[in-house]
Amino acid sequence: MTVDCLFCKIAAGQIPAVIVYEDEKIIAINDINPAAPVHVLLIPKEHIASLADINEQHSPLLAHIQLIASKLAKDLKITEQGYRLVNNCGIWGGQTVLHLHYHLLGGRELSWPPG
Ligand code: 5GP
Ligand code: ZN
Repeated sequence: MTVDCLFCKIAAGQIPAVIVYEDEKIIAINDINPAAPVHVLLIPKEHIASLADINEQHSPLLAHIQLIASKLAKDLKITEQGYRLVNNCGIWGGQTVLHLHYHLLGGRELSWPPG
């Protein structure tokens, strides 16, 4: 755990969040400022600053996140209409919390390209 990291604190239970899924590797929570009717953040419990900081050892973790995202999408009933799994990386990518996370967005039609 990295001191003063928001998502490390949420993963450690030190800051409350609406938890929709949790296992030994990741936690999934509702975004506090949802951009769509379904807006879940999938967050590894390990502190990784961004997608720019991953290496081969993270491959099973990243695969696990996608698997759980797919399962959550089914549970949240957004699979039939479709959804988006997004990672914002770095300043131009729009990343505001420097702990790796993926946005699962659904429940409305999403435009492309993103802003
Ligand atoms: P980013 O901009 O880094 O890709 O995404 C960060 C996300 O974290 C944003 O969508 C923002 O609404 C969400 N967020 C920021 N602070 C909190 C918080 O304290 N709790 C929860 N659940 N989400 C947060
Ligand atoms: Zn962290």
